[in-house]
Amino acid sequence: MRIFDPHIHMTSRTTDDYLAMYDSGVRALVEPSFWLGQPRTSPASFYDYFDALLGWEPFRAAQYGIAHHCTLALNPKEAGDPRCAPVLDALPRYLVKDGVVAVGEIGYDSMTPAEDHALAAQLQLAADHGLPALVHTPHRDKLAGLRRTVDAVRESALPPERVLLDHLNETTVKEARDSGCWLGFSIYPDTKMDEDRMVAVLRAYGTEKVLVNSAADWGRSDPLKTRKVADAMLAAGFTSADVEQVLWANPVAFYGQSGRLQLDVPAPRSAHEGNSILRGGE
Ligand SMILES: [Zn+2]
Repeated sequence: MRIFDPHIHMTSRTTDDYLAMYDSGVRALVEPSFWLGQPRTSPASFYDYFDALLGWEPFRAAQYGIAHHCTLALNPKEAGDPRCAPVLDALPRYLVKDGVVAVGEIGYDSMTPAEDHALAAQLQLAADHGLPALVHTPHRDKLAGLRRTVDAVRESALPPERVLLDHLNETTVKEARDSGCWLGFSIYPDTKMDEDRMVAVLRAYGTEKVLVNSAADWGRSDPLKTRKVADAMLAAGFTSADVEQVLWANPVAFYGQSGRLQLDVPAPRSAHEGNSILRGGE
C-alpha cells in the first residue's frame, strides 16, 4: 500500500516519525505552512520557516524515502495580526519555487475582516501563479465557517476544482461537496474526526475528490492516521482500489494541478548546506 499524506507538519515531528511513516506505506506528503503555536513577532520569522519547508525538511524526508512538497501562505491564525501582513507582499517570490504545490493553508480562524482580506488576496495569488489552494475551515462554528469560506471561493478567480477544503466533518461535508471543491478530512487521536467516522463519511459520500490527512503537528496527533484509515476502509469492505484512490490518487490529482509534483524521491544526500541529521558527523 502506498500513501500520500496531503497535510502534515513534519517540522514538528521527529526522525522516528519519518521511519514509522515509511514503514506504514507513506511515500509522499505535503507540508502546509502554518503558525508556530505562538505568534510570530516579525515577517522575517516566516521567511526562515518557508526556506526550511523548501530545503531542510525535504532533505530530511528524502533520508527516509519520502517525497516532500509544501504549500506556503500567511496562515489563518496570523492573518489578522498587522505584524505579519507584509508576508502577503513577499509571497510571490516564494510561490514560484519548485517545491511549492499550492497556496496554503489559508482560510478563516476567527472570521474577522482582516481574515477576509488575507483569504481573498491569497486566493488571487493562487490564481495568478497557476496553483491550487489548501483552505483550512474553522474548528469553531464549523458550518458558518464553511459557508463563509465557500462564498470567498465563489467570489475569487480560482475555480472550485483548484480548491481543497480541509478539516471537514459530518456537519460540513455535504455543503462542501455541493461547492465543487475537493474534500479534505483531518483524522485526530481523540477529538474531531476519527477513522471510524471517516469510513462512515466515505460510505455516505463515496471516494471521489476525498483526501484524508493526519494534520499531525506538535499537538496531540498521530502521523500514522492515514494508514489507520486505509486499514479501517479495508476492514469495512472497501477495495484496495478505493484505498488507493483516497490515500494516493486523489492527492496526486489535486496537487498535480500545480504541475510540480515530483513523486520520485530524490537520492538522499548526506548533508543540506553543510548540515546533516547525524550527530557528530559520520
Ligand atoms: Zn495544518
